[in-house]
Amino acid sequence: MEIIEDPMIRELKETVKNIRETSIKNLEKLLQRVGESFEDNDIEFYIAETGEEANNIIYDIVKDEKTIAKSKSNTLTEINLVKFLEKKGLEVIETDLGDRIIQLTNDKPIHPTAPALHFNMEEIADTINEKLKVKVDANPEDIMNTIKSDVLRKLEDVNVGITGANAVAAYDGSIVMVHNEGNIGLLSLKDTHIVVFGIDKLVSTLEDAISVAKLETVYATGSRVPSYIGVVSGPSKTADIQKILLKNMYGASRVVAIALDNGRRKAPPECLWCIGCGTCITSCPIYNVVGYDFGYKGYLGGRGVAFTNFIEGERASFDAGIYMCTLCSRCTTKCPLEVPIADIIEEVRCKVQRAGYKLDAHENIKRNIKETGTPFR
Ligand code: SF4
Ligand code: SF4
Repeated sequence: MEIIEDPMIRELKETVKNIRETSIKNLEKLLQRVGESFEDNDIEFYIAETGEEANNIIYDIVKDEKTIAKSKSNTLTEINLVKFLEKKGLEVIETDLGDRIIQLTNDKPIHPTAPALHFNMEEIADTINEKLKVKVDANPEDIMNTIKSDVLRKLEDVNVGITGANAVAAYDGSIVMVHNEGNIGLLSLKDTHIVVFGIDKLVSTLEDAISVAKLETVYATGSRVPSYIGVVSGPSKTADIQKILLKNMYGASRVVAIALDNGRRKAPPECLWCIGCGTCITSCPIYNVVGYDFGYKGYLGGRGVAFTNFIEGERASFDAGIYMCTLCSRCTTKCPLEVPIADIIEEVRCKVQRAGYKLDAHENIKRNIKETGTPFR
C-alpha cells in the first residue's frame, strides 16, 4: 500500500487542508500574533514587504562577518540572498548536499527537494575534484564525505546560520524546520540564527505546524517522518547557576525571524495553501519534458509559475512558461491540498496577456481565425 493511502495519512491530509485554509484566511491576525509571541520568546522579529527589504535586514546583521552559512530554502532563493551577500563581499556556504553540489557546479536546482538530480555521479565527482582540489572517485559515499568534511571545516569559522522554515506557529512563537541531513541543526547552533519565511507559512499552533511538516515530508519523500523536525522557540539559555538567566549555552544567543510578504498578499488564497511538497512538479507532464525552464528560481512547475506572478510580476510569469501549461490538472489531482493550479494559471494568463506578453504562435492562430475562420492557413 502506498503511504498516501494509509488511513492515518489520509486523515492527516484532511487536517492539514483545514489548517492551511484557516491559516490563510486569518493571515493578518496570525502575523500580528506571531510578533507578540516572538517578543515573549525573545526572538527578534521583522516583517519585510519586499525581498530587498529582507536582504537589507540580513545584511545589517551579518555585515561584519566574512562567511555565513545557509540551508536549502526557496524563500532565500526567492530574495536572491546568496547573490546579494556575495556582491557585498561575503562568502555564503550552502550546507545542503544537493545545494552545495549546485553551488560548486554553478547550475540551477532541478527539483525543490532533490536539486542536483540531473547530474550523474561522474559529473559530480569531476566538479568537486576540480573545485575542492581533491581526488574523489565517482562513488556516492566518497562524494558525500568529501563535501561534508569541506562544509564542516568552513562552518568552524561561521557565526551566523540562515535558514528558511516549513511552518511557523503564531500562538506559540515557534519555528518548525524539517531536514534529513542535520545541517539545519548545525546552523541553529551558531551565535546568530536568522530565519526567513513567507507569511504564508504561518499557522496557529505548534501542533498545526508539526502536522504541516509531517504531511510535507510524506508527499515530498514518501517517508512517514523526516530524520529531524527542529523547533526553535527562542535563544539558547540556561538558569542553572543560582537561577541567573544566561544566554548562548550551546545554541544561538540571537534568533532573528523575518516574515516576508513580497507579493503574497496579492495571491489568491488557494495559491498560498501550498506546503511545498513538490508532488505537483513531479506529476506534471510539461515539467517532466522541459525541467526547470517551466518555473522560476526555486518555484518550479505550474504552481511555481503561477506564484511567480505575485512575487515578480507578469514578465517573470511569462518567461517562466505560463503558456506552457496544458491545464490538464494532473497536478491538482496529486496535490495533497488540491491547489487548483490550472485555475490560478488561467487567471494569471489573463493578467500576462493584458500586460502585453503574448506568444507569436497564439497571435498567428488568432489572426488566421479572424481572416479565414480556421486556425490553419
Ligand atoms: S501545490 Fe500542492 S503538490 Fe504542489 S508543492 Fe504545493 S502542496 Fe505540494
Ligand atoms: S495543469 Fe499545467 S501545471 Fe498542472 S500538471 Fe497539467 S501541465 Fe502541469
